[in-house]
Formats: sequence, C-alpha cells, structure tokens
Amino acid sequence: MMHFRLQLGILVLVVLKLVNAAHALEPGVTPESGSLSAAIQLLEQTPTGKAALEQARLHQIPIHAGAISKTEITVTRSVDAASTTQDEKLKFVTQVVIARDKEPVFQALDLAHELVHAVNPKKNPFDPNLNAQDYIQYGIEGNGGEAQAIAQECKVGKELTSLKQETSNLIKARCEFVWNTENDTKKWQHSFYQLGQYYHAFLGLMRNYKTESNAAWTDRVEAKSPVFSSAVAHKPYPLALLEEYVQITRVICEKALKTNMGRKIASVASLETRCRAVSANTAE
Ligand SMILES: [Zn+2]
Repeated sequence: MMHFRLQLGILVLVVLKLVNAAHALEPGVTPESGSLSAAIQLLEQTPTGKAALEQARLHQIPIHAGAISKTEITVTRSVDAASTTQDEKLKFVTQVVIARDKEPVFQALDLAHELVHAVNPKKNPFDPNLNAQDYIQYGIEGNGGEAQAIAQECKVGKELTSLKQETSNLIKARCEFVWNTENDTKKWQHSFYQLGQYYHAFLGLMRNYKTESNAAWTDRVEAKSPVFSSAVAHKPYPLALLEEYVQITRVICEKALKTNMGRKIASVASLETRCRAVSANTAE
C-alpha cells in the first residue's frame, strides 16, 4: 500500500506513497501503444471526458495500464537537517493506473473517475494537525474527492452513445442513484456515509479520533446498506479512508520519531496527538 524511502545525511528524505496501492505497479504501458487507446478514444468523444483528458495533459499526468484502477500519489517530504529553520519541502508525483482487463468502455469510466483525483490539489498528508475526521470528509466531499470523481464518471456514462444494451444496463446500475440525485448534491454525498454491516465497527474505530462531538459522526454515518464502496478496499469509503489514514499516520509517526531522535522540532510535538490516537487504536 505504501512505499517509504529514508535517506539519512544532510538531507532527510521521507517518501510516502498514498492511495490504495493494493498491488505493486507493473511495468508501465503507455496509452498510445497499450491497451488503453480504445478507452481514451471513447473518452475523447464525450465533452466531459475530453475536458478531463485536456486537464490531464496540462498537468502531465501519466496514464498506465495495470492490475486495478487507482490514482497513485507519491509524496516526498524533504527536511534540510542542517538548517536551523527545519524547512520542509513537499513534492507530489501523481500517476493514474487503469485496470487492463476491463472492456474499453469501463476503462473510460474508470479513467474519468481517476482523473478527478489526479488533477486536483492534494492535502498535505504530513500535516501534524490532519485528523481522521477531516481526512475522511475531505476524501469524500472535498475537491478531487470520491463524490466529485463518481459524479464525473457518471456524467461520462450519460454522454457515451451507441453502447450495447448490456453495457448501458451496467452503467445505469452504477450511476442511476447519482443521476437521480445529482441536483441534490448534499443528499447523494450523504449516501457515501451508509456503512451497512460496517456501521458499528466504524463508529468504534472513530472513538479515538474524535475532534468534534460524537453526535456529529453518529448523525453523519448510517447503518443503511452502502450505495458506494471503494473498488480497491471492497469497503465503504469512510472505512477505506480511515484505514488509509491510520496507515499513513503510522508510517509518518515511526519515521518522524526515528529521524528526529534527540532533536526537538515543532512538527514532532504537534504530531504527537495524531500519533497517539493511531497507537491507541492499534492497541485495541
Ligand atoms: Zn476514487
């Protein structure tokens, strides 16, 4: 899921790989030469897809074929250990991977979805004040989040023409809820918090991360059957995002404590709360 590289010396390099990397990346296939050209052509034929591809080119986002569809973001934090100011630099490198075994039309929909994640600005995962609630909420409702990604995917699904009946039916099954509620953004964003069988487990896990009243989260999540689930984690998004938050926080905390041994820097002090919540949960 994550790759971490640490380089000791004058420059301390911390590399953090974000987002759902369930499988190691296989050698990249370029869209032009590989199995994605049909999907890209389909996407180009829709106004929404064409605009998304233009954005991707503008941001120079590489698109590869791989085992599963995902957006992979590698965040590198470098701290100049020799400097007294402890200046940190962040670098984000993003690439999109599209499942090679899907039909082109579904690859096109995946691509429409992933490009939303890929082209929008990211939150700093190293931010010591980044808490689980904000991470989940931003991951769903925020700029470049899951709600926006599924909205774009389903917009493209509506714009694609001359599809086989069977294909149309599959798209309809996935998108009907979004199409029916798209004018009521609040309503369908809210449906991301339907957790079904994961409801109690999620609320239990969230106990350690509460920064607002418990009631706010109890109101937000529901035990109704999930409408949307992460294709990577096979779980509703709030739970998938919480697991991702725990994983990245654990990596950051381990490395931060090691690399800052014997030294006091501000970010370590404020990181402690974030680290404590995660280790309290791990201990359960
Ligand atoms: Zn997504």
